[in-house]
Amino acid sequence: MKKYDLHIHSHFSSCSNMRPSKILRIAKKRKLNGIAITDHNTIKGGLEAKKLNKDKNFEVIIGAEIKTKAGEIIGYYLKREIKEREPLKVIKEIHKQGGIAVIAHPFGHGIIRKCAKVDLKELKNLDGVEVHNSRNTFHWENFYALVAARKYKLAETGGSDAHFYYEIGKGYTLFKGSLKKAIRNKTTKGDGRIAPLPWARGMSMLRKIGVKYLFHKR
Ligand SMILES: [Zn+2]
Ligand SMILES: [Zn+2]
Repeated sequence: MKKYDLHIHSHFSSCSNMRPSKILRIAKKRKLNGIAITDHNTIKGGLEAKKLNKDKNFEVIIGAEIKTKAGEIIGYYLKREIKEREPLKVIKEIHKQGGIAVIAHPFGHGIIRKCAKVDLKELKNLDGVEVHNSRNTFHWENFYALVAARKYKLAETGGSDAHFYYEIGKGYTLFKGSLKKAIRNKTTKGDGRIAPLPWARGMSMLRKIGVKYLFHKR
């Protein structure tokens, strides 16, 4: 069984300071077999991490988390930047690149937001649902995502949504064989822990309002 953290932000996201080289080191130390770097609207972090990775037994997937009006859609196995922002066109462009499209935290993020921005059946051709996101504040946010994935027969993924090093590996996807195939065959599982209530999100907020200088520089 392989264990990948499929949702990690590097310093190419304005909300994270993490360096790809250190992300790789920590991910391996925490016994992950692979990671996806999923920066906001760019594949730059994924490109850098993939270039840095020399370990044949560790996979780095180039991804991006694209903000759309239907929520955030993660593209995995990308080759070029996604220019589209219309949800259905984003999914189409991801597929054109041979990638996989997964909706991130459809019911979570935000302390009391309780419903998805979109009915998942409207997102035609979506491959999967992130059924575990460690930055969701409540377990039911992940549970609702799991119910939706099963209802619409979509693949299930998990990731930490790490913005700080301590978060890497808190959420993960378990599967056998190749990830692409496992997602297509819907045999993946998403699992992990969530942050003690809004701790991680609070850290992000503090960082936003100016204490980023307490953390290491870029
Ligand atoms: Zn997100
Ligand atoms: Zn994210």
